[in-house]
Formats: sequence, C-alpha cells, structure tokens
Amino acid sequence: MADHRSVPASDEPLATAATALLQHLVRQNTVNPPGDEEAAQTWLAERLRAAGFHVDLLAAVPGRPNLIAELGPAGHEPGAPVDGQIVTLLSHVDTVLADAAAWQHDPWSGHIDDDGVLWGRGAIDMKSQTAAEVAAAISLAEEGWRPATGLLRIVVAVDEEVGGTLGARWLCEENADRVRTDIVINEGGGAPLVIGDRRFYGLGVGEKGVCRFIVRTRGRAAHASTPGVGDNALLKLVPVLQRLEETELPIDLTDAPRALLEGLGLLTDGVTPEQAVDALREQAPDLAPLVEPMLRVTAVPTIIEASSKINVIPARAELRVDCRIPPGMDADTARGRVRDLLDGLDVEIEFTETIVGNGSEPGGPVVDAITAWLTEHDPEAAGVVPTILPGFTDSRWFRAIFPDCRAYGFFPHRHMPLTQTYPMMHAADERIDLRDLAFAARAYRDLVVTLLG
Ligand SMILES: [Zn+2]
Repeated sequence: MADHRSVPASDEPLATAATALLQHLVRQNTVNPPGDEEAAQTWLAERLRAAGFHVDLLAAVPGRPNLIAELGPAGHEPGAPVDGQIVTLLSHVDTVLADAAAWQHDPWSGHIDDDGVLWGRGAIDMKSQTAAEVAAAISLAEEGWRPATGLLRIVVAVDEEVGGTLGARWLCEENADRVRTDIVINEGGGAPLVIGDRRFYGLGVGEKGVCRFIVRTRGRAAHASTPGVGDNALLKLVPVLQRLEETELPIDLTDAPRALLEGLGLLTDGVTPEQAVDALREQAPDLAPLVEPMLRVTAVPTIIEASSKINVIPARAELRVDCRIPPGMDADTARGRVRDLLDGLDVEIEFTETIVGNGSEPGGPVVDAITAWLTEHDPEAAGVVPTILPGFTDSRWFRAIFPDCRAYGFFPHRHMPLTQTYPMMHAADERIDLRDLAFAARAYRDLVVTLLG
C-alpha cells in the first residue's frame, strides 16, 4: 500500500524525525484517566529546548504538565512582548483507553508494518499531529529560522479526552497571558472527503454545540401484576422514541454548512439543501453519515430510566437525549427545534445542558495559506472545503477566551480519507500511513514560514 518514494527526497529528514517522535509518543502510555503525561511532556520539552525553544511546563496538578514552547524573532527575550502575530500549533498528548486484546498490534508498540503504517493508540487522535508539529518546529529552529515578526508557539496540552479541565481549558481560563494567540492550528480537520473520483480536503472551521435534554412522562404506580390499575409512564415514551427514530431534522444552513455543500459542488443554483444531501447519499454512501451531522441538529436517545423495581409500574419515566447543534445556531433556536420535534406529545422537556457551537470564519489569511499550500502540494485534489466537527476539541477554549483568534482543525492526510480515519478514533487498530505524517509535518513547516515570515 505505502510507497515511500512518494515522500519527496528533500522531506525525508523531516519525515524520519516525525516518525521517531510519533513512535516514542505512542510508546508512552498516556491513557486518560489517569493521563500520566509527564514523561512524554518532559521528553518533548528537552527536544524543543535543545533546538532553541524557550519551554515551560505549566501544571494545574502535579504530574500533569502542559507544554508551552516559544520561538521569537532573533534576539527576542523569552516572555517579552512581540510585534506581529502569534501562531500556536496546538495538540493534546493524552489518549482514550485501548483494549489490547482487540488490536492486531499492541496499542503501545508503535509497530511499523511492511506497508509503512504505524500502529498505536494516538496514531490519529492525536499524537501524530503532536509529532508532526514538533518535528516541523524543531527542523525550522535547528536550521536557524526565526520569525521575522511575531512568535511561533507550540502548545501540547494534557487532559483533553476528559474535557480539558487540567489542560487547554485551564491554560486559557487561568493562564490567558501565557497562551493568548492570533492563530491556532489544532486537530479536527484535514482528512480527505472523497466523492466519486473527486478528493476534497476538509478544513475544520467549527464545532457543534450541545442542547441536551430530558423527556419526562408521568403516570400512576401500581403492582405490575395488575397493569389495568396503574398508568405506565414508561409506555408513554414509546411515541417519543418513535418520533426520534422517524423524524429527520431540517438542514440548518448556517455559514459553515452552506460553504461545505457549495464547496463540494452539491449546492448550486436551483438545488435545495435536501436535494444536495440526497445527491451526497447517492454519490458517497459511506461518507454521507459523517457529513450529514455537520449540517443539522441531531437528537439521539441514549439513556432511559423508569421503575427501580421489576414488579412496580413506573409513575415516572425519563429519557435522556444527546442533542447536538450546528455552530451559528443560538440556544433559543436550538430549543425551538427540540420543542417542534416533540410537538403534540404529552411530555415534559427539561433542557439540562446547552452550549452553543463555536467556529472561525471559513475564509481569511490562514485559510488562504492552507489552500495555497494544498494546491501546490496536491494539485490533483479537487479543493479545500470547510468542515464542522460533530464533537468538540480544545479549540473551543481558545475561541471562547480569545474571540479574535482564528482556530482551525488541520492535519492533512493525503492517503487515508476521512471514512478510514474517523472510525479508528477511540477504537481498535488506530494507525497512520507514515506518508501522511510526513505530508502534515511538511505542511506545518511551510505554513509557519508563510504566516510568520
Ligand atoms: Zn483528540
């Protein structure tokens, strides 16, 4: 499958460095909880310091340090203000757990197979990006490159997989002066979307929010041996479940979903969004389930609670629904969607958690630089399209605390499309084609130079 000759000869030292970094990182078990990121972070810090970076390890609790490495213009004193833009290459070094018995290769082996594919937990999410970003930064620094103006900052956070309380959230909320930034490149985009023979690069411009709710029904308790005496609240959830299964929520063309459908060539004059989605389902049936959640509210029932005793008819039943809303949709509109969805049913709705989505504009200098780079390095690709993450990443903390910063999800894969990488995340046999790791490292190197001079 892999053909090492496709890594240009001039990129080979960078590719080798990125591979060594990734293999080392995969071999550090940073499953969170508990995280245990310190050894990986200390090792990265040493490498970045040796290349000329000013490095700090900032920890909210002992043993869980976040890494901040900075490279300023020639003669810049660490910590002194800089003119120009601050570019942050962001990643997290913790991972979700892995059940080794379910894997073909040990998840902490960093095994490289005959096809040039590296296996291990974090190979996609997201030690690969940490490795590519750090390799790019070190190679620039070792060659003597320094920003003409501004600052290159590497942030490797801990604790992302359980919400970032000790990681990016803590950095942004409690140490804003240390991580204030103009541009963030993070996870959450870059894998190709393939439709027929056209291959588009996704660029993560936004993340969905949540509008979680409980649907509650009420009845009258009785002994389960005499059903006619009671009024079973659980059975009243049947029409709710039916409604959730049968109803397809409308497509919500906020800015990013519109730009995505247009970019894919599916939404053109005279075509409705629904027709565009139908065309997507027809032309790319494996991709459609990954793209559709980007375009609309989703409401998925996940937890049900009723009686706590087998022989008691429940007087009350509750269904919890994980509802996700596109960036650009406000809380009132989202709740309205939910009420419309359940309209006419005899239920109570309690909204438990509403967080609006977040995003950065799908155009501007960073997007232009990324587009230009991809056009040059993969001229056969059909273009770059903005994508929306159905979940969220550490980008949300940066966008919330620094509203003027532009944050993008970008780890360009050339060989492994989204339909291949997405199902591997948090699952068994996570792995990366090393040509893609090299491609990404090269992209970061060139983008940093384009953005900082
Ligand atoms: Zn991740």
